[in-house]
Amino acid sequence: MYQLLKTEHTARRGRFVTVHGTVETPAFMNVATAAAIKGGLSAFDLKEIKCQVMLCNTYHLHLRPGDELVRDMGGLHRFTRWDGPILTDSGGFQVFSLASLRKIREEGVTFNSHIDGRRIFMGPEQSMQIQANLGSTIAMAFDECIKNPAEYRYAKDSCARTVRWLRRCKDEMSRLKNEGKAVNPDQLLFGINQGCCFDDLRIEHMKQIADLDLDGYSIGGLAVGEPTEEMYRVISVVEEYMPKDKIRYLMGVGTPSNILEAISRGVDLFDCVMPARNARHGHFNTWNGIINIRNAKYERDDSPIDPECDCPVCRNFSRSYIRHLFKADEILGLRLGVMHNLYFYNTLLERCRAALDEGNFEAFRQKYSPMLDRRI
Ligand SMILES: [Zn+2]
Repeated sequence: MYQLLKTEHTARRGRFVTVHGTVETPAFMNVATAAAIKGGLSAFDLKEIKCQVMLCNTYHLHLRPGDELVRDMGGLHRFTRWDGPILTDSGGFQVFSLASLRKIREEGVTFNSHIDGRRIFMGPEQSMQIQANLGSTIAMAFDECIKNPAEYRYAKDSCARTVRWLRRCKDEMSRLKNEGKAVNPDQLLFGINQGCCFDDLRIEHMKQIADLDLDGYSIGGLAVGEPTEEMYRVISVVEEYMPKDKIRYLMGVGTPSNILEAISRGVDLFDCVMPARNARHGHFNTWNGIINIRNAKYERDDSPIDPECDCPVCRNFSRSYIRHLFKADEILGLRLGVMHNLYFYNTLLERCRAALDEGNFEAFRQKYSPMLDRRI
């Protein structure tokens, strides 16, 4: 599935082949939480903005409209009309961040829905069943996302449980496929490395999950408030123990600079709500830094959001017009802003791939890493 095409130091240029299409890596996955990009973008728009992978949230879709409904409507691909690869998360992150009154046992987690408060149980088997109904290309293993910083002892026990849960995920996925209960019989399974910022736990956990020979591996539990340097250090520590012939995914990261730094440390896949969320607040990424469209200096500015950008928004509309849409609370402003920012991220990753192909990624990183996160 994953082909490593080229390396530059630790950075990797690769290709990930799935039944729903090929992903050129490194790649950024566009987050469509409840099977829609927040900001009013559809599957058609995703093609326009160079999206390669759509990411949907298991927890949200399980609560609403319900994964059995999605299954009955033919799975996420048919439901949303996005025909490319889809990754679904396990629901674990939302269970631990959104739901209330959680109770964790060996079997799984009981929690209250953040929508109507009803009591729900989710464990490895339930997460796999939901994701089988959704029919995603890639399913994520169900894991515990613990607070960071955490007590060493608790983190250690949690890592051990996450390995046991991972084995149960793998078994359940096989069972569902064998019994013809998976919308996508070729669904892939990624395992998630945990261990907070404890190097020994991270390494030991990575070794254990690597033994399970999964389709891909992700690093979880980062970008949850720890210092950026700490995150980079953990990536480097874990990277050494990640299988070279499998795709690697850093969950929930990040800013353009975070992504460049993580690519240089050997990561292939990313996802983050930040570009769409920032866009909805009027903060737009440009190749020169971040602008705030509400700023008075853009009132009569006829230039596009980013003169270097060739997205459908920048090809057509001025800063003046988009600023007006934001000031007037027109939803078109959100939609155009989100289109631009996601296009920027997808193009950033495209340019990283081109730089890797040409062997000058390191120069690219050095030029853009300090520039892209600054506010101008
Ligand atoms: Zn643009």
